[in-house]
Amino acid sequence: MTLKHTPHVLVIGAGIGGLTTAVLLLQAGYKVTVLEAHIYPGGCAGTFYHQKFRFDVGATLAGGFSPGGPHARLAEQLGIDWPVKPVNPAWVTFLDGKTIFQWAERERWWDEIHRHFPESTSFWKKQEWLANQSWDIAAKDFAWPPRSFRDYLTIFSALHPDTLRAAPYALRTIGSLLPPASSPSLRLFLDAQLLISAQSLAQATNALYGSAALDLPRRGVNHVLGGIGSLAQTLADWGTQRGLTLLYRQKVTRLEVKDGRGVRVYTNKKQVFEADAFVANLTPWGLAALLGENTPPALRRETQTRPATWGAFTLYLGVDASQLTAIPADHLQVIVDPTRPLGEGNSVFISLSPTDDPSRAPQGMRAVTLSTHTAIAAWQIDERASEEKSAEYTERMLQAAEIAIPGIRQSVRLALPGSPHTFEFYTHRPLGMVGGFPQTSLLRARSPWTGLANVWLVGDSIFPGQSTAGVTVGAMRVAKEVIHWLRQTFNMRSWCVAKTPSPSEAN
Ligand SMILES: Cc1cc2nc3c(=O)[nH]c(=O)nc-3n(C[C@H](O)[C@H](O)[C@H](O)COP(=O)(O)OP(=O)(O)OC[C@H]3O[C@@H](n4cnc5c(N)ncnc54)[C@H](O)[C@@H]3O)c2cc1C
Repeated sequence: MTLKHTPHVLVIGAGIGGLTTAVLLLQAGYKVTVLEAHIYPGGCAGTFYHQKFRFDVGATLAGGFSPGGPHARLAEQLGIDWPVKPVNPAWVTFLDGKTIFQWAERERWWDEIHRHFPESTSFWKKQEWLANQSWDIAAKDFAWPPRSFRDYLTIFSALHPDTLRAAPYALRTIGSLLPPASSPSLRLFLDAQLLISAQSLAQATNALYGSAALDLPRRGVNHVLGGIGSLAQTLADWGTQRGLTLLYRQKVTRLEVKDGRGVRVYTNKKQVFEADAFVANLTPWGLAALLGENTPPALRRETQTRPATWGAFTLYLGVDASQLTAIPADHLQVIVDPTRPLGEGNSVFISLSPTDDPSRAPQGMRAVTLSTHTAIAAWQIDERASEEKSAEYTERMLQAAEIAIPGIRQSVRLALPGSPHTFEFYTHRPLGMVGGFPQTSLLRARSPWTGLANVWLVGDSIFPGQSTAGVTVGAMRVAKEVIHWLRQTFNMRSWCVAKTPSPSEAN
């Protein structure tokens, strides 16, 4: 006789990646448990309370909500309404004496191009066309990089003539599309946009990926009511109202492996959870730390040989809105010195809470998140040196902010710095590595594969990488893979389940 068994999936982490996978698996009929180390969901795209302010932890710009975008498709599938409102201009960049508005409307954006970078219209035409192909491909939801015959079949069935015409660009970079006479300002502008959206500079960013990333303002950027953490909260609420078990303050400390499969996890609360499949909303380093000596050789090699990703330095400011001069937009990007490398306080992204969202700050105040890329190696120092470095970076961030918002210093009522150590502490990402891998090659894209048959990675470490939109695309693909695996495994095994119970059946 066959035992009736609903497979159980355990998700480690309630970031956008973990929660999106969890709700899709729940909708597909599986039993799903999410264990989150922190006290609220969202991870790098969370929002924290401090002295009546609601600060966005990292992510502040929300893309992917326009028709066909990943958040829009997910909402359609789940039947949810996201608490979002479009922002236009998406952001404004201050660079080399220029103030460049990233308008949502194509015509207005082309006016900006003509005004600031007249030599580059051929580049932007190509970028626009490539972006259309990339977004079109992304909407097909096929597994990338492909691993099975089924993956290749899905890819081939999604191809059409325009996709094939774009295929050669899979091997090129954004930098290679630029006319030789491109101005240093244009190159710097592209570098600054790609660093925040692809984690790499124009010369190295893959042309297809980079074109789509440069198109983000035209695809629509949004404010999230209550802060970006409301996205994760919306998913968490949808899931828990439908039977998802979501437990906070449960840091997974170990994932036990038997015969090449994950079998159970242990948490800091001394609890043990068994499951048939595991989804790790972690970086490869984070997963390897949970697997210890059972880390599969390829994953171990990866963690030893892959260069570290970026870290972030953030500054959270509570400001008196009445002291602020006219600000051109709620999102601002400042490049301080065009002759110096980006990051490390020389390129700063600033987001102010919208004036029409009273939930974000006490009356008359605004919550501001400033962030800059920083190399994590330079933060491997003792606590005192780290505090000194934080103070120095805080000053750099304020100097950058003064360029976009003159007088902001006088308006500051509260200032909280966040270093890679802070990110490591609150998001449990080893060494505070954030943002995923630089998107330099489609052929070397990181898949969800872990080397264990029933364990998948999800989040910004897997292709297509960072951003709530990118992570959502990855999570939708992982959910499909897990469902496929569970169907195959449990249909095939249903006749012999009584003989070889899985760990959760044994309970
Ligand atoms: C400074 C900064 C600015 C950014 N700006 C933007 C932006 O404007 N727009 C945008 O779209 N994206 C932005 N991003 C990127 C975006 O925030 C991330 O790519 C995305 O949120 C990552 O989601 P994730 O699912 O990979 O997981 P994470 O956000 O890393 O979440 C993982 C979750 O897992 C939990 N966890 C980890 N280990 C364990 C464990 N052992 N046990 C239990 N739980 C665990 C963590 O607590 C966390 O909640 C920014 C990122 C940073 C750092």
